[in-house]
Amino acid sequence: MLNRIDLRDSPTPGVIDRDLLPRAELDVEAALEKVRPICDDVRHRGTAALIDYARRFEQVTIERTRVPAEALTRALAELDPAVRAALEESVRRARLVHRDQRRTDSTVRVVPGGTVTERWVPVERVGLYVPGGQAAYGSSVVMNVVPAQEAGVASLAVASPPQKTPGNDWGEGLPHPTILAACALLGVTEVYAAGGAQAIAMFAHGTEECPPVKLVTGPGNVYVAAAKRLLKGIIGIDAEAGPTEIAVLADDSADPRLIAADLISQAEHDALAAAVLVTPSAALADAVDAELAVQVPAAKHHARIAEALAGRQSAVVLVTDLDHGLAVTDAYAAEHLEIHTENAAEIAARVRNAGAVFVGPHAPVSLGDYCAGSNHVLPTGGCACHSSGLSVQSFLRGIHVVDYDRDALAGVAHHVIALAEAEDLPAHGTAVKVRLDNWKAPHSK
Ligand code: NAD
Repeated sequence: MLNRIDLRDSPTPGVIDRDLLPRAELDVEAALEKVRPICDDVRHRGTAALIDYARRFEQVTIERTRVPAEALTRALAELDPAVRAALEESVRRARLVHRDQRRTDSTVRVVPGGTVTERWVPVERVGLYVPGGQAAYGSSVVMNVVPAQEAGVASLAVASPPQKTPGNDWGEGLPHPTILAACALLGVTEVYAAGGAQAIAMFAHGTEECPPVKLVTGPGNVYVAAAKRLLKGIIGIDAEAGPTEIAVLADDSADPRLIAADLISQAEHDALAAAVLVTPSAALADAVDAELAVQVPAAKHHARIAEALAGRQSAVVLVTDLDHGLAVTDAYAAEHLEIHTENAAEIAARVRNAGAVFVGPHAPVSLGDYCAGSNHVLPTGGCACHSSGLSVQSFLRGIHVVDYDRDALAGVAHHVIALAEAEDLPAHGTAVKVRLDNWKAPHSK
């Protein structure tokens, strides 16, 4: 079922050619050309453009994008009690982890009379994207909102696609009721029915209804990721968190039933989702294939799953041994990496590149998707080699506050002047010299 890539004969197992690894057909770069006109349109026509895109992409007629307060209250009141309890537990665990990520200001005394303080200041206003095309991601409300709140963000807005058939008789044209309920549960009052690239453009440029934001975070499909890449600069963004990826590093000790279930669980997100098994064991690869043949047809979203597993982005990669496997998973830099090996914790400690690592048979990715306490908004498309998942830090800016007294400046002035002259920027040096001169012969005033 999965494509096979055999790297066992690689002459240099430590050096991985990324072109040999599985890769999606439609990447963010290719999607850029599709989302550019959408973003330009929203910039020029504002809410009218968003209304048109709701008709085109969601086949739904809306008259405005701002969700009324009554809809949020009603969604929470009508939420299934089991789902409410699960969301509350998800929030509780996420708060435990994210509260611990808060930063405190720190001051370093560089020299007597000279200090540098790092002040952590939350971004003033943020836009949080919650996907809602093929599934309703109430959990993504938690994963976006909790770190923003823990960071102390004063103004936050949520956007999620309007729904055609949300499963009740009152919510046509609103985001999914579970998403609205999760917003209400977390005290979020500013919610917009807007999806995809057009929602990111709404946040970046602002519309008649939605004031512009400074930072946009949140996961989404390839069009959402492309819009974030396109508009970066006008807005800050978190890492690109596009179509989901799972990589599993496993040896003969692994249970193929669990691995198949976990690959399927992420393939369920999107036909573009990537599921990759990296193993030195051809026998395990065969056993996982056999399990997939049984489990995929039984899955509710089997068509989407089968497409994702058969795509160029999904594969079994056969490697020489676990060291070679680690080199492959580091080169791939998966959003989610599961370790199913002997001594899984030791192997996990050697991972250099991954959005999140799941250790051993009792930590499936779906635990992290909902209730581990970790964040599920994670970098995809190889971005995990340079970026982190969403956290409190994503919503903070560190401001250096430089406070030197006269003697502290005088003590380092000759170094500043020497460096300024070496860079042919003499006015930099002059800015220090005038102060020294001033002190020698104070300006009469
Ligand atoms: P979504 O809300 O991301 O996208 C729906 C929107 O896509 C629609 O509103 C529409 O505007 C746009 N769209 C659809 N087809 C288009 C086209 N041809 N051209 C331009 N725009 C188009 O919802 P989704 O589609 O269900 O995708 C959710 C994604 O989020 C999945 O890929 C899932 O894997 C991913 N996800 C990622 C993470 C992460 O942290 N990396 C976490 C959760 C979910």
